[in-house]
Amino acid sequence: MKSLSTVKNLLNDARTNHYAVPGFECLSDMYVRPILDVAEQQRSPVILLLLGCDVEGRAMHYLAGLIHSVAPHYDIPIAMQLDHATDIDVIKRCIDHGFTSVMFDGTALPYEKNVEVSARVVELAKPHGVSVEAELGCVAGKEIDGADIGETVLTRPEDVVEFVEATGVDALAVSIGTAHGIYASKPDLDIETLKAIDAVSQVPLVLHGGSDTPADQVQEAVRNGITKFNVYTDTRLAINSAIPETLKITEKRPDELSNIVFQPIHDSISKNVRSKIAMALSSGRV
Ligand SMILES: [Zn+2]
Repeated sequence: MKSLSTVKNLLNDARTNHYAVPGFECLSDMYVRPILDVAEQQRSPVILLLLGCDVEGRAMHYLAGLIHSVAPHYDIPIAMQLDHATDIDVIKRCIDHGFTSVMFDGTALPYEKNVEVSARVVELAKPHGVSVEAELGCVAGKEIDGADIGETVLTRPEDVVEFVEATGVDALAVSIGTAHGIYASKPDLDIETLKAIDAVSQVPLVLHGGSDTPADQVQEAVRNGITKFNVYTDTRLAINSAIPETLKITEKRPDELSNIVFQPIHDSISKNVRSKIAMALSSGRV
């Protein structure tokens, strides 16, 4: 029986061996099984990402509780990370419920405040063996409610060493030209900036906004220092695109069994997970 891994452990191996570990948002318990099944088939380590809004109230037990109970039955390293936390109380609650990693998002704060709060999160998390990811610069785009996140601010390589030293974080999300959500126009990742950051960074680097980013650009980023990339919107799209197929089944047989009704959605999530593992170059690493 294996327990959950930390993101720190997974990313350190990825950095040494030049691949990335894909992180998939789990909006509900339904996502967990196809993600873990495909990751195990592909012999890929995997990170399950949960947002604060996904673990409010009892949702914590349906998701964190579920992940804790199924993870030991998989023969791959699995980490469970709180994604984009801005609230210290949510971070504390997730640490109490066995998350192995948390990401603090201080990108809306001035630099000094981002340093201060990221360092405080590290202080809270370290005694529990929980690893911490922070973000420097800003990956813009859309929130899930459609609101704009703000302006893209590329990470400046000259800030990285000082930020990591001052905060003690284990992984750093960098802004190199991706955006959260669907792109209005195709992205053009700044690989030169990434190379410059990777050359000086003491910790592994993370790419947010992995959805809708062309595979060749993601792979180029992985080859040049990205060790984790987050997928959120593409999973939502995978589910939505399978709904017409589901409706066809119920038109023919209104009383069809639920496992058959949900199969197109399950298959569509699985296909998306396979394609992201291929992009991450993480297949066969376990
Ligand atoms: Zn993100």
